[in-house]
Amino acid sequence: MQLPAALEEKFKTLISRYPPAQKRSALIPMMMYAQDFFPALSDELLEDIAQRLDLNMTQVTETLSYYSMLRRKPVGRNHVQVCTNISCMLRGGNELYAHVQKRLGIRNREVSPSGTFSLEEVECIGACTGAPAIQVNFDFFENLDNDKVDVIFEQIQDGKKPKPVPVISGALHERNPNEVVVISQRFGIPNSRSIDVYLQNDGYKALEKALKQMTPETIIDEMKKSSLRGRGGAGFPTGLKWSFVPKDNPKPKYVLCNADESEPGTSKDRPLLEMDPHQVIEGCIIAGRAIGSNQGYIYIRGEYRYIIDIMETALAEAYQRGYLGKNIMGSGFDFELATHTGAGAYECGEESALMESLEGKRGYPRIKPPFPAVVGLYGCPTIINNAESLSTVPAIIRKGGDWYASLGTPKNGGTRLYSISGHVNKPGIYELPLGFPLRKLIYDVAGGVRNGKKLKAVVPGGSSCPLLSADEIDVNLDYDSVAKIGSMLGSGGTVILDEDTCMVDFARRIMHFYAHESCGWCIPCREGTAWLRKLLDRFHDGGGRSEDIPLIDELSQNMLGRTFCALGDAAAMPTISIVKKWRSEFEDHLHGKCAYKDAGNLVGAD
Ligand code: SF4
Repeated sequence: MQLPAALEEKFKTLISRYPPAQKRSALIPMMMYAQDFFPALSDELLEDIAQRLDLNMTQVTETLSYYSMLRRKPVGRNHVQVCTNISCMLRGGNELYAHVQKRLGIRNREVSPSGTFSLEEVECIGACTGAPAIQVNFDFFENLDNDKVDVIFEQIQDGKKPKPVPVISGALHERNPNEVVVISQRFGIPNSRSIDVYLQNDGYKALEKALKQMTPETIIDEMKKSSLRGRGGAGFPTGLKWSFVPKDNPKPKYVLCNADESEPGTSKDRPLLEMDPHQVIEGCIIAGRAIGSNQGYIYIRGEYRYIIDIMETALAEAYQRGYLGKNIMGSGFDFELATHTGAGAYECGEESALMESLEGKRGYPRIKPPFPAVVGLYGCPTIINNAESLSTVPAIIRKGGDWYASLGTPKNGGTRLYSISGHVNKPGIYELPLGFPLRKLIYDVAGGVRNGKKLKAVVPGGSSCPLLSADEIDVNLDYDSVAKIGSMLGSGGTVILDEDTCMVDFARRIMHFYAHESCGWCIPCREGTAWLRKLLDRFHDGGGRSEDIPLIDELSQNMLGRTFCALGDAAAMPTISIVKKWRSEFEDHLHGKCAYKDAGNLVGAD
């Protein structure tokens, strides 16, 4: 098949990023980039890709069918994706979606007769602090209302390109006096993503120290002293994780940066990568030095295409200045680093599913043990850390683990980024020390509940966490304190719900997400999420029965701890907490009452 020259070039670059025996790793990126040139992935195109990667069509199509961003049917020239997940829903995302349907005259997954537009209702796109938000192709548009979205569509219809949001909305707010700035120190500095600005602001000093003054062992010791716990959600101690990589294993070792941020309510990796790409690159190289790895990959969710472009520019700068490649800073240490695009699958944020995806397969999680530190990517020892965790490494190495630990609380070192969204006056990204009080976060940092409303509930750290009620907010935000009251610090995606929020609707929306994202491997998750989605839909639509309330709880309890990966728990835990704490709202629905509609809100296109 004759391909455009630019795509030929791109294919060669993509294939060269992986070991020759692991060409299949290029499969998902090749399909993603091919879609830039073709409206859909045709048989002929897929056969061409299969041939280049020594695969058969079954292998290619089984992978393709797993990922929501890989398309067999053409979309419009402007593919409009409207997020209705929790943060957008709380700020009018459903109403905006209804308006967009009317305005474009098409419904979900339809293409306009002219082919100018297609429409898709999508899960969280990582724009929570700028909700409600949409994407047109890969461009983000945030803080929208009906008028603003009309202007975007008018510009497109006039043949103009509307201006996307170049820097995550809300990230560049005025600093709150409570913030303790470590990893966001370069946010807001003009051209902060360039290597020159990075070098003028402590950039690559930690790498120099790690290469010239430290050994792999002392780097790991420093990381242990820091009490840094993984910022992706699980909170596992980073230094300990690194120490699990066997030194005497003769196989290559890998460093993976997990930038597949997809947990609804969470948009804190996006500004880190967008405004300070060199910080995460430096963290990856130091991690490589610590575990004896010479190759790393930064796995970035497919929706963040513009961030992949930013990261690739930064990587090219780092190679050009000798911070990547052979004999870095004359130390004799070699390290290669490349981006890898995801293609729309929340499950790939789970570390073993991410590795399967990076190997060009469906994103099914692996049974553990063995853990990735011993058997990871390509069966080799691998550490995988969240982008925020790796961004923290340079400051720890520069200033010391004890200094970093002292910023937080015992066993909960340092600071973390919170993406605060929902019904607050000042949604945004804030860097705060571990142990910061939740009440202060809501009222002193995020400006309190908007429109003078009362607080009803808090999602402390992404949609997987059990919700807290308004009388549970006197808790310090560290992993242990939040666990003690039955929830989790999670991913730092804090979502605030006011008194007019319908908790049945909120539970319904969360379950839609997990049912959509379940990989289907294990029955409790696959069947449980699907049945709960149906039950909650029916309940919210007024068709509930009193016996459904304990049934929702029972179905959720039956998923807990009975699945291969944590997605089953993630679906069950918020649902159980909602039924327990807001049971009266379920009972109200039996009598036709709904907090959201009763407050004068309407949902739906008609
Ligand atoms: Fe797949 Fe769900 Fe089972 Fe995880 S819990 S392996 S997502 S079916």
